[in-house]
Amino acid sequence: MSEVDFDIGIIGGGPAGSAIASYLAKAGLNCVIFEGDIFPREHVGESLIPATTPVLDDIGFLPQMETAGFPKKYGAAWTSASDQNIPTMGFEGMSHGFRAAEIEFHEREQLGVTQDYTYHVDRAKFDLMLLQHAASLGAKVYQGVRVRRVDFSETNPRIIFPIGKTETSVRVRMVVDASGRNTFLGRQLKLKVSDPVFNQYAVHTWFDNLDRTALSVNKEQADYIFIHFLPVTDTWVWQIPITDTITSIGVVTQKEQFKASKEDLDGFFWECVGSRPELKEALEKSDQVRPFKTEGDYSYAMKQIVGDQWATIGDAARFVDPIFSSGVSVALNSARLISGEIIAAAEQGDFRKEMFSNYEGKIRRAVSNWYEFISIYYRLNILFTAFVQDPRYRLDVLKMLQGDVYDDEEPKALAAMREITKQVEENPDHLWHKHLGSLRAPSAAPMF
Ligand SMILES: Cc1cc2nc3c(=O)[nH]c(=O)nc-3n(C[C@H](O)[C@H](O)[C@H](O)COP(=O)(O)OP(=O)(O)OC[C@H]3O[C@@H](n4cnc5c(N)ncnc54)[C@H](O)[C@@H]3O)c2cc1C
Repeated sequence: MSEVDFDIGIIGGGPAGSAIASYLAKAGLNCVIFEGDIFPREHVGESLIPATTPVLDDIGFLPQMETAGFPKKYGAAWTSASDQNIPTMGFEGMSHGFRAAEIEFHEREQLGVTQDYTYHVDRAKFDLMLLQHAASLGAKVYQGVRVRRVDFSETNPRIIFPIGKTETSVRVRMVVDASGRNTFLGRQLKLKVSDPVFNQYAVHTWFDNLDRTALSVNKEQADYIFIHFLPVTDTWVWQIPITDTITSIGVVTQKEQFKASKEDLDGFFWECVGSRPELKEALEKSDQVRPFKTEGDYSYAMKQIVGDQWATIGDAARFVDPIFSSGVSVALNSARLISGEIIAAAEQGDFRKEMFSNYEGKIRRAVSNWYEFISIYYRLNILFTAFVQDPRYRLDVLKMLQGDVYDDEEPKALAAMREITKQVEENPDHLWHKHLGSLRAPSAAPMF
């Protein structure tokens, strides 16, 4: 009898779990996914970025993306309430001032990406299709099975889960935690550290028949993702097309702001969107088709993301604010980055932590860049609007917005943004000083 039931046991069948299973099954490894829910199930995180494309291509899933009819996403746009007479401080190309900015993905070539668009996805449908794809490549998938713990005390880890009223287990050579923000191993191994700066809270729902151009400068861009900055500290709204007529809308704020508000969920949502009257008016003319849902306490890191016979990928490894729609891309690319190392480990029969160090380094660097980019955005968001429009920095910012962050270099724009933020912070007479947000950008991303 074999010593193990499967080579690799994967906890969670979201994008990270399905992608790693697809890579490993394609390479001939015997893997199993345990997914606690029964798909299709709703999930937040509906707008992709182009760095997802090479992964979807690698695992042979792009043709299905094309036939599924997901809205194509050619770019991203940002709007804000007004210019507030903000001086441009020598920035160039500010044709929209600070009122709006947009980018189109075709403006910058990206290695491994041959299409000038990515997709917005209904996650219930996307995640189900991806899980079925992993199964079609040979991964064994158990849905409705929630893993309780992993026992690392024997030579081969044992994944323990309930079947009815009894507990049972399977033995594997290695465990991959793709359990998302449930952070299964991070909690079991006590590795999770809440973010010291960000404590966001999101309230979101879907609307039918929304005029998506209500706040846009360019009426051709209705199918872009829109981020609407609100004149409320540290608060913004996402607008994501889900079908021809359905649009996902979410308000993201600091948890403190929600707690301080006297409103219930419903009231808080309408109070926030009411700070942009044209947005509120457009939403009122459309039909809310889902109840409000919330997401809270969601920024954290892990003291360790790989270990002997285990690794964490996707949100199970780390989560940072969703302002730049990076989550699914990080989930898919973390699967891509570690898959080669797991295949090599299986060939050598050596699953020690050191076998996954390249993955660890790359994912930490990439997420650190995201983290700092996001921190600077919250600290001084007019700087982001200026950098996107200025031809000297535009392509470098676009590189990050495309999710092209897995090479070893720090993006030039990030260093320049860090320097300007520092000048503005240190000089109370700086004309941008009063536009600093309340969240303090760390001088470097936390090194957990
Ligand atoms: C407010 C908000 C907005 C966001 N917007 C975007 C966006 O626009 N674009 C974007 O790319 N990302 C966005 N994200 C991030 C995105 O949701 C995640 O990064 C992405 O879903 C991560 O994929 P994953 O596979 O790691 O985890 P998940 O998609 O969460 O999948 C994890 C799976 O594991 C299962 N699971 C958990 N515990 C167990 C267990 N014990 N046993 C078995 N199964 C288990 C869960 O049921 C789940 O299906 C957003 C996130 C938030 C909070």
